[in-house]
Amino acid sequence: MILCADPSAQFDSYQNEIEEAVLAVMRGNQYVLGEEVASLEKEFADYIETTSAIGVANGTDAIELALRALGVGLGDEVITVSHTAVATIAAIEATGADAVLVDVEPEYYTLNPNQLEEVFSVKTRAIIAVHLYGQSANLDLITDFCKVKNIFLIEDASQAHGAKYKGKRLGSIGDIGCFSCYPTKNLGAIGDAGLITTKDTDLATKIRMLREYGWNNRISEYPGRNSRLDEIQAAVLRIKLKYLDSDNEKRRQIAQYYMANLADSQTSLPVIRLDNESVFHLFVIQVERRQELLDYLLSKGIQAGIHYPAPVHLQPAYKNRVKLASNMRVTENLSNKIVSLPMYPELSIQEATEIINAVKSFFEEQGC
Ligand SMILES: *Cc1c(COP(=O)(O)O)cnc(C)c1O
Repeated sequence: MILCADPSAQFDSYQNEIEEAVLAVMRGNQYVLGEEVASLEKEFADYIETTSAIGVANGTDAIELALRALGVGLGDEVITVSHTAVATIAAIEATGADAVLVDVEPEYYTLNPNQLEEVFSVKTRAIIAVHLYGQSANLDLITDFCKVKNIFLIEDASQAHGAKYKGKRLGSIGDIGCFSCYPTKNLGAIGDAGLITTKDTDLATKIRMLREYGWNNRISEYPGRNSRLDEIQAAVLRIKLKYLDSDNEKRRQIAQYYMANLADSQTSLPVIRLDNESVFHLFVIQVERRQELLDYLLSKGIQAGIHYPAPVHLQPAYKNRVKLASNMRVTENLSNKIVSLPMYPELSIQEATEIINAVKSFFEEQGC
């Protein structure tokens, strides 16, 4: 079976190094927030070309703590997209703020800047730009809007570790960048982990306090909580960070191969934004008869995915409750058509060929 994502294949790639590093942590005496976390934070900040990085427990917490550090909470509104992982919206609501959702651009699947003015209110404090599937949101327009309105910009770069916008790493452009390091992400741990990036050292200090009970020298300066990162995850992430650029390059090569060979088929292929370097967290196509294609691929031993099967604003927990832009048409159409083809650095050209041939023969059998 060819899986949609395969984190254990990545473990196999770096097994010796990872096992050694994990053993070293276990033989030490600091299991949480120790030297591995401190080194990872320094190395990740350098990699993103920013000033500070802070390790936290997961990507959802990264967004929540970023908002809290900016003073966002009860009574405030935060604008983001409905076409994203539920985590983005869950994190906003965890602060007590309300999420306000807009549609996405039809070509790039990221936040539609033309709807920002419509949903902006006196309560709006921040925008979360989600860099979906590995490529950047329209940061120029979103940044301009934030400047004019004097609100914060948070980048949800959980699907875009290493991606660039106009030569800059994502996560280094907004006020704060947030990353999930869930095992299937481009930079994935062997459990839950998250990272926050910022150029503002005061904000970094506050986030460090917020991740551990709001402590400043063991006295709580802020109402806090626990979102610490453990040493085993940090040690694994330090190893994978060394290979992130080459692993992302492998993803790009697979994407090129898919694009070159599926160009004549009945699918809409990903479109890459100008001046933007995608890291292809996912390779998402659109098809009309989606369930039939998924079943067909499965019968050939290929597991494709759907990211995401329902817009957040139509899921039971949020339906008829969250504030929306008047037109959510692109998001609502997409959720019925999108398919994520298998995509991970270890996917071989033979496997990619098998997948391409299966997609093509599906359409041939359908008489397209
Ligand atoms: C994975 C993901 C998150 C959440 O990260 P967790 O580590 O699962 O909490 C948030 N936003 C986006 C866009 C994601 O893909």
